[in-house]
Amino acid sequence: MSFSEKVLICDQVDAVLNNVLQKNGLAVTYEPQITPEDLAKKIGDYEIIVVRSRTTITKELVEKATKCKIMARVGVGLDNIDTEAAKAKNIRVINAVEGAMNAVAELVIGLMLAMARDIPRADRELRNDKWIKKELMGTELAGKYLGIVGLGNIGKRLARLARALNMNVIGFDVIPIDPEFAKEVGLMKADLDTLLQSADYVSLHVPLLDSTKNLINAQKISTMKKTARIINTSRGGTVDEDALYEALKAGNLGGAALDVFEKEPAIGNKLVSLPNFIATPHIGAQTKEAQSLAANVIAEKIIQILRGVL
Ligand code: NAD
Repeated sequence: MSFSEKVLICDQVDAVLNNVLQKNGLAVTYEPQITPEDLAKKIGDYEIIVVRSRTTITKELVEKATKCKIMARVGVGLDNIDTEAAKAKNIRVINAVEGAMNAVAELVIGLMLAMARDIPRADRELRNDKWIKKELMGTELAGKYLGIVGLGNIGKRLARLARALNMNVIGFDVIPIDPEFAKEVGLMKADLDTLLQSADYVSLHVPLLDSTKNLINAQKISTMKKTARIINTSRGGTVDEDALYEALKAGNLGGAALDVFEKEPAIGNKLVSLPNFIATPHIGAQTKEAQSLAANVIAEKIIQILRGVL
């Protein structure tokens, strides 16, 4: 079966998406630098619109997308598509939850190790000709308690990786946790307060919702161990950055690593001035494997929807 729909790809995505769609007869236009103004002019010509992180599909753009059947995000979060507006116009909105799972979980392990061994500082100092071996007494991840908040795709993958490193895993989710999975990783289920009080590392894997805004705030941080470390690779806004800054500065928290920020790009963020803080510029899903997997998943889903089997 071959299709004749027109596809507009608005952001940089792995070439596999273009290849698979074209092989199936779809007419693909690749405009990874398209401006919002240009998009507003062109969006009405396409049945399928694909974005990654750069382009935002607003309500106004949805209104102009008169031929559109499918809007796709080559990634997990759908924060940059007005899904309500799309639904109201019977447009299918799809994403690729599977793509980033391993990439984000591996980044969390990397950030935990970076904090435990002070790797960023060790590297920085050596570049300044300083051999600070004696100052770099680290700790190990094995035997430590990792609290995972949100046991969806990424949280589960992280639990498996942490288990392989002999960490003890505590988990909290607002929905029931699959007992088979819990058994497999020896998961200790807990409420959020117990998890925060017990964990050496707390990693967030929740979407940004009204109920998760500032989920980790000053009050919650005050219940954590003074040596505990927070990792956030989920969405900016789930950790109150002012409260985090105060706790790190006062030594009421051991450290923190953020990949996501309330305001991005997080240039000039005051957290980066703190020695017990490390940051990455929203690179959770930024691996070749994740991008290629996400592009494959989206290509497959588009074809299945057009075939009427999804
Ligand atoms: P998912 O939907 O599979 O899992 C999210 C889980 O959070 C669900 O099980 C849900 O029940 C749970 N949850 C919701 N509210 C909660 C609360 N108040 N307390 C505890 N649990 C709660 O999502 P995922 O694919 O695992 O992604 C997790 C997060 O990571 C999302 O915010 C996503 O946008 C983000 N993400 C970031 C990057 C990055 O580049 N850093 C890449 C991919 C995904």
